[in-house]
Amino acid sequence: MFKLGNIYYGFKLIEETEVKEIQSIARIFIHEKTGAKLLHLENDDHNKVFSIGFRTPPSDSTGVPHIIEHCVLSGSRKYITKEPFMDMVKGSLQTFLNAMTFSDKTLYPVASRNEKDFFNLMDVYLDAVFYPKIYEIPEIFMQEGWHHEIFDEEENIRYKGVVYNEMQGAYSSPERILGENIGKSLYPDTCYQYSSGGNPDIIPELSYEDFLDFHRRFYHPSNSYIYLYGNGNVEKQLKHIDENYLSNFDKAEIHSTIGIQKPFTSRNEIVDYYPISSEENDENRSYLSLNFVLGENTDPEIYLMTSILSQLLVESEAAPLKKALLDEGIGEDIFPVSSGGLQPSFGVVAKNTSPDKKAQFEKVIFETLNNLVENGIDRKLIEACINIVEYDLREASKFPTKGIVYNMISLDSWLYDGDPLVHLQFDKTLNKLKSNMDTSYFENFIKERIINNPHSSLVIIEPKKGLGEEKQRIMEGKLDEYKKSLSPEEIKELIEENNKLKEMQVADDSEEAKATIPKLSIADVEPKAQVIPQKIIKEDKLTILSHNIFTSKIAYVDFYFDISMVEEKLIPYINLLIGLLGKIDTKKRPYSQLANEIYIHTGGIDFDVTCYDQKNSDELYHPKLIVKGKAIGDNITKMMELVSELITQSKIEDKKRIKELFQQMKSRIEMTIFDAGHSVAASRVSSYFSPSKKYMERLKGLDFYWFLSDILETFDSNSEEILSNLNKVYNMVFSADNLILSFTGDEDDFSLVKANLPIVIDKLNTLDFQPIKYGFAEERLNEGILSSANVQYVSKGYNFRRLGFNYNGSMRVLSTILSRDYLHNKIRAQGGAYGAGILLDRTGHIVTFSYRDPNLDRTIQVYDKMADYIDSLNIDEEELTTYIIGTMSQLDPATTPHMKGQIATNRYISKITQEDIQKTRDEVLATKLEDIKAFIPLIDKAMKEDYLCVLGNENMIKDNEKLFNKLVQLKK
Ligand SMILES: [Zn+2]
Repeated sequence: MFKLGNIYYGFKLIEETEVKEIQSIARIFIHEKTGAKLLHLENDDHNKVFSIGFRTPPSDSTGVPHIIEHCVLSGSRKYITKEPFMDMVKGSLQTFLNAMTFSDKTLYPVASRNEKDFFNLMDVYLDAVFYPKIYEIPEIFMQEGWHHEIFDEEENIRYKGVVYNEMQGAYSSPERILGENIGKSLYPDTCYQYSSGGNPDIIPELSYEDFLDFHRRFYHPSNSYIYLYGNGNVEKQLKHIDENYLSNFDKAEIHSTIGIQKPFTSRNEIVDYYPISSEENDENRSYLSLNFVLGENTDPEIYLMTSILSQLLVESEAAPLKKALLDEGIGEDIFPVSSGGLQPSFGVVAKNTSPDKKAQFEKVIFETLNNLVENGIDRKLIEACINIVEYDLREASKFPTKGIVYNMISLDSWLYDGDPLVHLQFDKTLNKLKSNMDTSYFENFIKERIINNPHSSLVIIEPKKGLGEEKQRIMEGKLDEYKKSLSPEEIKELIEENNKLKEMQVADDSEEAKATIPKLSIADVEPKAQVIPQKIIKEDKLTILSHNIFTSKIAYVDFYFDISMVEEKLIPYINLLIGLLGKIDTKKRPYSQLANEIYIHTGGIDFDVTCYDQKNSDELYHPKLIVKGKAIGDNITKMMELVSELITQSKIEDKKRIKELFQQMKSRIEMTIFDAGHSVAASRVSSYFSPSKKYMERLKGLDFYWFLSDILETFDSNSEEILSNLNKVYNMVFSADNLILSFTGDEDDFSLVKANLPIVIDKLNTLDFQPIKYGFAEERLNEGILSSANVQYVSKGYNFRRLGFNYNGSMRVLSTILSRDYLHNKIRAQGGAYGAGILLDRTGHIVTFSYRDPNLDRTIQVYDKMADYIDSLNIDEEELTTYIIGTMSQLDPATTPHMKGQIATNRYISKITQEDIQKTRDEVLATKLEDIKAFIPLIDKAMKEDYLCVLGNENMIKDNEKLFNKLVQLKK
C-alpha cells in the first residue's frame, strides 16, 4: 500500500489516482535528492515498460540530440562492448527496444514480459544515458554522427556517419522538408525552428566538444522523466533506479525549459526547395501549406481539438477544406499537418500544385472557414470526427506495446510542466467536447484560433532540378577546400584517425567486454508456442473463424474475399477499387454522408488486398481482398449494414471524384516509397523469381505504382474503359465462394455478428466461381531504379527451395546472426547505412536489404561474402544461446488483440498449423553451430543467382551501370 507523502527508495509519492480510461493506477513520484520525475502506471499488463526521457531542446540544426541518442547506446561504464544496444536486440526477450529523438525530447523506452529481462534492459539503458563511453571514445561520435573519411592522401575527403546518412535519406522526402520549414515558420524564436534530427547540410558543423557539452547539459536526473508501466514489482524497480543511478547525483539547475513563441502580428511566409531528378516533370509539383498555432498542449481541450480539427476540416472524406480545395483544382492531394510540441499547430497542405495558386489557396480556405462559422458545421461531421479520435485513444494501438503509447501521451503535457495524466484521463474532455456539439463551440474555436489568428504561416516548397547535384557540388567544394587547408601532416593524422576507427569497427568485442552484457538462459524462454484461441465453423461456402480475445469491448469483424477469379490484366484494378470504396457515393447516399455514417457508428471500415503464400510454397498462393470493420455493442448491426452497402451498392461512375481519388492514391504511395525503400526493393527483387511476389508486385508494388501513373496520364481519354474495368472487378470480387469471416472479440458480440451475417452474405454475388491459374514466369532481372533519393536501398534474393533446401527454424537463428552482426557491422557501422538485414521465410525466400545506404556495389560485395562469414564463424555455446534467445523474442512480438486474431486467420489461410509453429520454435531452440554452417551452400548459391534490385540515387546507379541489365525511372 502506498501512502501519499511517503518516500520509497528516495522517491516521494506526490499523487496517486485511478485512471479508468486505461485501467491503471497512476502514481507520480519526485526523486528527493535529484528532482527526477517518475510516473508509474500499475495495471495487469505483463508487457512491462520502462522509459527514461530528457528534455533536449536543440539550439541549432546539427542534429546533436539525435547523434547523442545514437551514441549513448554504443558503450557505457558497466557495459563495455561496442554496442550494448545491439547486444540486447540480439539476445534479449524485448518486445520493444529503441530510442527516439523528438523536436524537444529524447526518449529511451524498453519493454519485456520477462522480469529478469526487464531489469537487464532497464539497467543497460540507465547506464547508457548517465555513463556513456562517448567522453573516452571519440570514434563513437565519428561513426554514429559524422566525420571526414579518407584512407589515402590521393583520394578526396568524404562525409561519413550513420546519422548523417540517415538524415540524407530523410531529407530525400519533400514532406520532411515541408515539416522542417513549418517549424521554422511558426516558431522562429524557439527550439522548434531547428531540426533535432539534423539537416545534412549542417550536421558537419557539429564539433565533438559541442556534442559532449549537450550531453553534459541535458542528460542529468534533474532533467529526466522516468516511466514505469505494467504488472511489475514497482518497489523493486524504484530501488534499482535509486540505488544504482539516481543516488549518485545531486540536484542540478538545468536550463531546458522550452520557451513560448510570442504570437505574431501577421502571417509569416517561407519558400524552400526540394530536389527532383533530371528526368522528372517539375510542373505542378509544389506544396502549399497554411498553418496556425492553436494554443498550448498542456490544455486537454487544445490537445484533442488539434486532432479533431485535422479530421474535421481536412482528413475526413466529408472534410470541407479538402473538398473545397479539390473542387477548385488547387492541388492533387490535400492533407493535414500538425507540429506537436509545446504549442501545437493545425495546418492544411495542398500537394502537387503550383506557387502561383497561393492567393487562391488562401482565399478558398478562408472562404470555406467563414462559411462554416456563419452557417454552422454539420453536426454529424463533428460527431464522426470526435468518434475517430476517441477510438484512437481507446485502442492506443500506434505501437503494439500499449505502455509506450501511454508514455508518449503523458509526455505531451508532462514535458511542459503540465499534469502527466491530463491527456490519459480523456473521458472528461471528450464528454465536454461532445456536449459542446449543441453550442457554437466548434465554430467559435475555428473563428478565434484559425480565422482571426495572426500566429500563422504560409509555407511553399518547390521542386528544383539539379538541386541535389548543386548541393553535392557545394559539399565537394567545401571538402576540397578543407583538404587544401590541411598540411600533409594533418592529412596523415586524419588518415590515422580513420584507420583507428576502422580498426575499432572490424575488431571483435573482447571476451571480457562480452561478459559485461547481461544474459538470459534458455530456462528463461517459454518453449511452448502461444495458442491463439480459434474456433472454426464451416457453413456451406462460408468459413467462420472466431477468436475469443479481450478487446476492451471492441468487436473486430474481418471479411476475407477470395479474389483468385480476377484475370491477370485486371489485377491492379482490385487495388484501385479498394481505394475508392467508402469514398464514393453509394445508391443510398453521397460519399460525404457515407463517411459520417461510418465514423458515427463504427471505428472505421477499411479495405486491404494481399496475397498469402501457402506453407512451403510460392507457387501456391491465396489472393484476398479484406474488408475490416470494428464497432462496439449494438453498433455491430449498423456496421454490417454499412459493409453491405459499400460492397454491393457503391456507384463507380463519378469520373471527377474517381480521378481525384486516384491522384490522392498516387501521392500517398509517393510519400511512403523512400520511407519503406528497403521493402520496396526487397519485394521487387522477390518478384523476379517468385510467382506470389509477382502477383503482389502487380497488386501493390512498383508495377502497380507505374500502372496508376499511366492510368492518370490517360484518364480523360480512357475513362470509359477504366470505369468499365473497375465495375467488372467490383461485380466479381465480392463473392460468397470461399469467403472467410474472421471475428476477434468476446462471445456476446460474436453471437451478434453471427445473427447479423445475412445482412452481408445474402447480397453477395453468385457468379460462377472460376479461379485462375496465373502464368507468372521467372524473369532474370537486375534492375536499377533511378530516383532523386540521396541514398540507396540495395536488395538481393532468391528462393532456397529451388536450390534444394527446406525451411527450418534454424534459419531464423541464421538470419539473427547475419542481420544483427555481420550485416549490421559491415553495412551500418562500417558502411554508414542506417540499416541492413536478411529475411529467410517459410515460403523459401531469402532476401537481403539495406536502408538509407550511401553505398551500392560495396553493399553487394558484403552480401556476396555472407557465406564466407558464416564459414569463418566461431562462436561458443553461450553466444549461440544469446542468438537463440534473441530469435525467440522475434517469434513472440508484442501484439494488439486485433493482431492476434489476424495472425491466427493468416495461418489458417496459409495452412500453417500449431504444430508447424511449435516445430519452428523447437528447431530454433535446438540450433547448433553445425546447423548454421550447413546453410553455407544455401547462402552462397542464392547470392550467386544474382537477382538484384536497387532503388536509389540516379547518378550513383548510372555510375554502377554494369551491375544492371535494366535501368528504370522511378517517376515517369
Ligand atoms: Zn537515428
